[in-house]
Amino acid sequence: MTEPTDTILLVEDEAPMRKFLRAALTSHGFRVIEAASVHEAEAEITTSPPSAILLDLGLPDGDGLDLLRRVREWSTAPVIVLSARDREQDKVLALDAGADDYLTKPFGTGELLARIRVALRHARARATTDDPVIVAGPIRVDQARHEVTVEGAIVHLTPIEFRLLLVLARHAGKVLTHRQLLRDVWGPRSTQTHYLRVHMAALRRKIEADPARPRWLTTEPGVGYRLRDEPPGAT
Ligand code: CA
Repeated sequence: MTEPTDTILLVEDEAPMRKFLRAALTSHGFRVIEAASVHEAEAEITTSPPSAILLDLGLPDGDGLDLLRRVREWSTAPVIVLSARDREQDKVLALDAGADDYLTKPFGTGELLARIRVALRHARARATTDDPVIVAGPIRVDQARHEVTVEGAIVHLTPIEFRLLLVLARHAGKVLTHRQLLRDVWGPRSTQTHYLRVHMAALRRKIEADPARPRWLTTEPGVGYRLRDEPPGAT
């Protein structure tokens, strides 16, 4: 699945960590470019845009999140944050700033490689499909016809439920924060997290076989929600 030409920009100030990650990534066919500071990373990103970026947050000349916000103004390259900060609040900040995923140190190489593959797959899907139909597991969202089916059976959704599912489906596989969902479904000024909870519960009752144990519309505690695009455990 990995294309041998994929280049990963590794932004990390600790040399032993860079060495370890470079070895893991090159042995799986990736090209690796290293940057040890915000300054070096910006120079690399602008001269040769990478396929994906692994971003440490604590850098000697600045915060990785500021770099991420600047990169997001013009680039959609997937960014996976690697951080020792493991509070939910830190994950929310990184995802709101435009990160595609977040890994808390220490992590295993298997986990890292799986996340990179998912991020690259999503980036390619974003770049190549104009398909009006989005499929995630048994769920099929027809954007043009405003129609949702689960295992082939039509599900009747309210306009808000449809919009909520559509936003999640357009980013299937990725965690969306409460703030991102409120903004995209209710508008930029919305802060009513309880609306989100109520409509998510309603959506689960219509989509999930067992709404109390959702398989597809999953909760990331304290962070947000995700529509899985493959069954749990598949990556
Ligand atoms: Ca660091």
